[in-house]
Amino acid sequence: MDGAATPGTGDRTADVTNPATGEVTSTVALAAADDVQAAVAAAKAAFPGWRDTSLARRVQVMFRFRELLNERAPELAAIITSEHGKVLSDAAGEVARGQEVVEFACGIPHLLKGGFTENASTQVDVHSVRQPLGPVAIISPFNFPAMVPMWFFPIAIAAGNTVVLKPSEKVPTAANWIAQLWKDAGLPDGVFNVLHGDKVAVDGLLTHPDVKSVSFVGSTPIAKYVYETGTAHGKRVQALGGAKNHMIVLPDADLDLAADQAINAGFGSAGERCMAISACVAVGDIADELVAKIRDRAEALRTGDGTRGCDMGPLVTAASRDRVAGFVDAGEAAGATLVVDGRNPETDADGEGFFVGPTLFDHVTTDMSIYTEEIFGPVLAVLRVDTYDEAVALINANPYGNGTAIFTNDGGAARRFQNEVEVGMIGINVPVPVPMAYYSFGGWKNSLFGDSHAHGTEGVHFFTRGKVVTSRWLDPSHGGINLGFPQNA
Ligand code: NAD
Repeated sequence: MDGAATPGTGDRTADVTNPATGEVTSTVALAAADDVQAAVAAAKAAFPGWRDTSLARRVQVMFRFRELLNERAPELAAIITSEHGKVLSDAAGEVARGQEVVEFACGIPHLLKGGFTENASTQVDVHSVRQPLGPVAIISPFNFPAMVPMWFFPIAIAAGNTVVLKPSEKVPTAANWIAQLWKDAGLPDGVFNVLHGDKVAVDGLLTHPDVKSVSFVGSTPIAKYVYETGTAHGKRVQALGGAKNHMIVLPDADLDLAADQAINAGFGSAGERCMAISACVAVGDIADELVAKIRDRAEALRTGDGTRGCDMGPLVTAASRDRVAGFVDAGEAAGATLVVDGRNPETDADGEGFFVGPTLFDHVTTDMSIYTEEIFGPVLAVLRVDTYDEAVALINANPYGNGTAIFTNDGGAARRFQNEVEVGMIGINVPVPVPMAYYSFGGWKNSLFGDSHAHGTEGVHFFTRGKVVTSRWLDPSHGGINLGFPQNA
């Protein structure tokens, strides 16, 4: 923080592991309350100087950051794989999607332009500006150590705010690497600060009077808590939560394409994506054929160390692995058909990594825990329904509403779907419909608390507040007293 690494004042630490080997590779010091104070104080002290730095200079720093990240992206991807476990190509993809937001934020002068109305009333002009908030907090989950923070900080910084990022304690190193890159790009000390920690750090940020906004991404119960606590302390909060994403496959769909995409979206990043497909809804009489095609593909996937060119890596911790395996046990016990069993997979990894292989259930019903809970692992549940209407009703009855997809060649059905489904991000023959940086990312219902989605114009709006200026330059003949409410003439 404030341009230098500090050891922190507390004595609590957490282990950081390489999930592919199970080895503890480092420990991270967890912030105490005093460390929260120090991080926010650094951001507060840096704010006036950064806010008053011209847009031209701020944009130069943004472009420099972009260039450095382009040159050094493989280093960041390697860090992500070593602590999260996702395969290297997926980690590189995460960095690239984050970089898109940096590129969007390079256009901040255009995005911050206000409106101007000349002679709104006689000789009265009106204009609007958007100004930064001050120190803002970003609290991120383990599953995207770079991309999720990058949904927020490029826009926050470009708009003139200062940032305290509290990354997940499971994957702390990416945030440190990014902080150094900002320094190398010429960002003044104190504008981007990293605060490592857990609930103590989060609670400190949520209640700190100098923190003006909170951008949170994580599980639904914590997102709700963050939203309620942050707003109760007068802050602007956007809190993105968990998900249960469905893909519908209509009878007219290309089943090979649908099976490929079910695999990619179900098992990519070992299912540890908030946009992962975890429920596949087969409509009509295609289910047997579709399940067979998904089964064949799932059985061919190679699970292993993400640095060695396999398809899928491990889960992030031993606890995650045990939790996911517990769901597989529960699905079997509840009577779902276990088509592919990923417990105890064969891998190429050394040591005791946290692996669960691709797992496929058929004949899943909506009362089973493998359907009702967000598993956050490589477990795909196939549900069978007779009609399109039943499929949409099933999605709309689900408490989450992050992403969904429909697979069909029927344009009319796709058009109905995008209109009727109560979900924030929709894919039509696209299984993981993560919006481009210039659109906004966010779900509905229990997948987002607050009213601003991430990045795009909603992101710019979130990290700025509006002012409207009404001005009149009087000549000496105008004067006199009039206590009436101003009217236009
Ligand atoms: P998490 O909720 O456990 O942790 C998220 C952040 O909150 C971390 O920084 C963590 O340190 C902090 N935290 C954890 N427990 C806390 C507590 N009791 N009080 C205060 N802070 C606490 O989530 P995770 O396991 O790191 O990430 C996975 C979850 O994130 C999944 O549910 C996934 O769907 C969700 N996610 C959602 C999106 C989205 O865009 N909606 C994107 C990525 C991940």
